[in-house]
Amino acid sequence: MINTESRYLSTCPVGCNAPLETTTYVLPEGALLRCSACGQLISQCSAARYWQSMQEFDDPKGTLPEAGLEQRRFRRSKSFLDQIAKLLGQSPEQIRLLDVGCSSGAFLNTAVKLGFQAEGVEPAPKAAATAQAAGLNVRQGLLQEASYAEGQFDAITLFEVIEHLQQPAELLQECRRILRPGGILLIGTGNAASWSMAAMGARWEYLSIAKHGGHVSFFSPESIALLGQRAGFGVAAIRTRGVRFCEKGDCATLIHRIAKLAAEFLNIFAALLNKGHDMAVYLKKT
Ligand SMILES: [Zn+2]
Repeated sequence: MINTESRYLSTCPVGCNAPLETTTYVLPEGALLRCSACGQLISQCSAARYWQSMQEFDDPKGTLPEAGLEQRRFRRSKSFLDQIAKLLGQSPEQIRLLDVGCSSGAFLNTAVKLGFQAEGVEPAPKAAATAQAAGLNVRQGLLQEASYAEGQFDAITLFEVIEHLQQPAELLQECRRILRPGGILLIGTGNAASWSMAAMGARWEYLSIAKHGGHVSFFSPESIALLGQRAGFGVAAIRTRGVRFCEKGDCATLIHRIAKLAAEFLNIFAALLNKGHDMAVYLKKT
C-alpha cells in the first residue's frame, strides 16, 4: 500500500508526470516506489523523518575521510578531477571549479592541492565552518542563495546531494546557469541499477536513511541521463564502480570474505557494464 501522508517525495524527482508503483524493496519507511516512466526509485519517508535524518548528519567532521582512508580518498578524488580536466581540455590551473554541498571540504582540499581554482558552498553550518577553518574558500548556505555570476565556472561537482532532493532539476538549472558553455557538471550518487542493489535489495546500506541521512531518491544511469537532458545537459561520460553482495555484519565473516573476493573480481565487469554501485556522471552544458 502507498502511504501518502505527508511524504517528503510525492512525485518522481526526475520530473516525470507518471504514476508511482510499489516495489518489493521494503524499507522501514515502507516499500520503495518506482516511477513507471523512468524507473527512478523513491522512498516513502515522511517529510519530518527526512529532516530529522538530515540534522543527524550535520557534524563538524562532515565527509572528512576516516583515519587510514585518506590516501584512498585522495586517489578517488584525483581520478574525478583528472577526468574533468580531460573532458574540458584544460589544465587544473585554468579550471574554476565549484563543489556544491562541499561539506567539510575533503574534495575541495584535494582540488586545491592539485592546482584547481576551487571553491565550495555548503548548507550545513558545522561542516562549512570546518572547511573555512581549514582555509578553504567556502560559503555557508544554499547554492541558490550564493548568486554566482552567469558562466562563472568551468566545472561544478555535486557529490551525495542529488539523492536528497525533491526537485533536482532546479538545482541542475542553477548549475547550468553558472557554468560556461561546454562546462562540466559531475554528479556522484548511488546506482540503483547496480549489481549490489540486485544482490542485496532492501539490505543495500545506501538505501538506509538511518545510515545515510536524507537518501530518498535512487538513480540509474538512464534516469540521471534523462534528468540531465531535461535541465539542458548532455551526457559526456558515466563511470560506475563497486560491487558488494552483503554488508559487513549482515552475513557470517567467512561468507563475507568470499563474497568480497568475488565482488572484487566482478568489479572489472561492473565498471565496463555500468553496474557498479558508485556512479559518477559527467554532464556537459549544451
Ligand atoms: Zn520518472
